[in-house]
Amino acid sequence: MQWETVIGLEIHVQLATKTKIFSGASTAFGAEPNTQACAVDLGLPGILPVVNEEAINMAIKFGLGIDAEINKINVFERKNYFYPDLPKGYQTTQLEKPIVGAGHVDITLADGSTKSIRIHHAHLEEDAGKSLHEDFHGMSGIDLNRAGTPLIEIVTEPDIRTSEEAVAFAKKLHSIVTTLGICDGEMSQGSMRFDVNVSVRPKGQEELGTRTETKNLNSFKFMEAAIHKEVERQIDVLEDGGKITQETRLYNGDTGEARSMRSKEEANDYRYFPCPDLLPVVIDDSRLEKLKADMPEMPDAKKARFIADFGLNDYDAEILSGDQATAHYFEASVAVSQDAKLSANWVMGELSKSLNQSSIAISASPVTAEMLGGLIQRIKDNTISGKIAKEVFEALWNGEGTSADDVIEKKGLKQVTDTGAIETMIDEVLTANAQQVENYRAAPEDKRGKMIGFFVGKCMQASKGKANPGMVNQILKQKLDG
Ligand code: ADP
Ligand code: MG
Repeated sequence: MQWETVIGLEIHVQLATKTKIFSGASTAFGAEPNTQACAVDLGLPGILPVVNEEAINMAIKFGLGIDAEINKINVFERKNYFYPDLPKGYQTTQLEKPIVGAGHVDITLADGSTKSIRIHHAHLEEDAGKSLHEDFHGMSGIDLNRAGTPLIEIVTEPDIRTSEEAVAFAKKLHSIVTTLGICDGEMSQGSMRFDVNVSVRPKGQEELGTRTETKNLNSFKFMEAAIHKEVERQIDVLEDGGKITQETRLYNGDTGEARSMRSKEEANDYRYFPCPDLLPVVIDDSRLEKLKADMPEMPDAKKARFIADFGLNDYDAEILSGDQATAHYFEASVAVSQDAKLSANWVMGELSKSLNQSSIAISASPVTAEMLGGLIQRIKDNTISGKIAKEVFEALWNGEGTSADDVIEKKGLKQVTDTGAIETMIDEVLTANAQQVENYRAAPEDKRGKMIGFFVGKCMQASKGKANPGMVNQILKQKLDG
């Protein structure tokens, strides 16, 4: 039997406001436990929440970024449940009137085609605190610093069909919220958390299978692994004649193990009701217009511009526009190099290899965009060959110079383009390899092209890579054939 996977995602995105959604307490990450939770966040008697205007603005920006309708009248509701990290006894959230209505996020698939993933809605809510288990024996610690941090919860339609699509979507969403500047994108700090709803159905069947929900995945890698594991489990159960129970599951990224947390029957009745302490938030047209005018260039538009203005292919444009910092670096390097294709190759090749090896963010690269641009200029004007350029790059990476010119000068790497000098060197190589010269001249025309490589290699070796390869090739051919 052929199975088809169906996936819908719910994503919690922490908004990058300075203070909480209903209080003035700081949202900064990493503070001493319980130093950033005020009376409002704890829901102490007599408090009154006040909506953070910046959280509203950021949620609207998200809606504008995914072509969604913005709900003009926003109501906050109380979702009632008990949990130690929720001292208020309810989470303030939105239910009937989420701030962001239906929209879409477009992803690029491996074959280069585009797929649109529909967003059902996105609503504003507050984050809960955290239970800490590690440092406590037989007890749990509660850190309420996170309580009241503004979130948008984004809910997709079940449009995703593979774990690869899920990851492509997640990365695109990351790119959108960081481009908008509404989230710091720090997944390891929990700034973006993914809940994955997964079901399988026989290929060709219209009706959706029963789904499970795996909560709180905070890396692309864990998400991909969790989906794989759950799809396999469901297929196993069904092929053994069993049934899938609708349940919430947990996936442990460190051990790669998954287990059931609770089934749907045990699910709470949250008794939602409109929060009597908060007035509906009415969004007027002037606010919308102002935010629209402030919108940055979104990743899709940037990609289209990279293709149109720089002549990049789809693949390169996708990668270079996917992340704000990378796009910025690329454009700054093109401004100096005046060669988009070479800049693209170097950013995606040598630079990203070095950044990955050292786990350095592109914004902190020791080789700045200006340095790389300068290096590419020297390749283009034949001061250095592509091969020597890698040596210059490495020197710049290691802080051995302030610019490509500086390194070329210090290390004496300037390419030899003097015809006389190259001829002398070639003559020496030919004399030293008389037998190969004879073989070459005896060989038929169509074999010679390949054989010339031997002499080019010897010449480059003799010049320590500094001879201009084009000139070496040309003069060699003249001398050997003529
Ligand atoms: P609930 O009301 O229980 O939260 P929703 O209908 O809001 O459920 O769906 C939650 C998420 O689960 C959405 O992202 C949706 O796309 C996804 N989803 C719903 N049904 C399925 C299914 N059968 N298989 C996979 N995903 C599903
Ligand atoms: Mg839900």
